[in-house]
Amino acid sequence: MDRREPEVIFFPFRDDFTWEGVQTKIYKSPDNSWLGVLRNEIIKTDEIHYRYFEIQKGGYSTLEKHEHPHIVMALRGRGTVVAGAEIYEMAPFDVIHIPPWKPHQLLANRGDVFGFICVVPAKRDRPRKLTKQEVEELIKENPRLKDILRYNPA
Ligand code: MN
Repeated sequence: MDRREPEVIFFPFRDDFTWEGVQTKIYKSPDNSWLGVLRNEIIKTDEIHYRYFEIQKGGYSTLEKHEHPHIVMALRGRGTVVAGAEIYEMAPFDVIHIPPWKPHQLLANRGDVFGFICVVPAKRDRPRKLTKQEVEELIKENPRLKDILRYNPA
């Protein structure tokens, strides 16, 4: 039987929120849609990717939407998740599920670093940035978003 046995993968935690054997990288190629985000891809199997992101104080992820869902657990500091027109304040070990196509942004806007696990399917569609009109619609639905969302139109 020519079947490959999957290997056990174990990454010990270091007390600076890194894991032995896992490289810390920047979130993705720089553009004006995000600020101060670090990415640690802890586990990448054929099914799921299990990542730890850390947003530096004042930083934020891209305001985007896509078909694949996110499961996020806060691990370090404090932050905010915007999902649709709703605002969720996150602290360890809060968990949020962001369903398919829900616009979202994660922000370290509470005077602290914001670190979280984010699980996604290995096979997933490309995120799409929100259009100016979509952002305006969200703000119309919840005017508090005007001062929270970080959005730089192209
Ligand atoms: Mn996303």
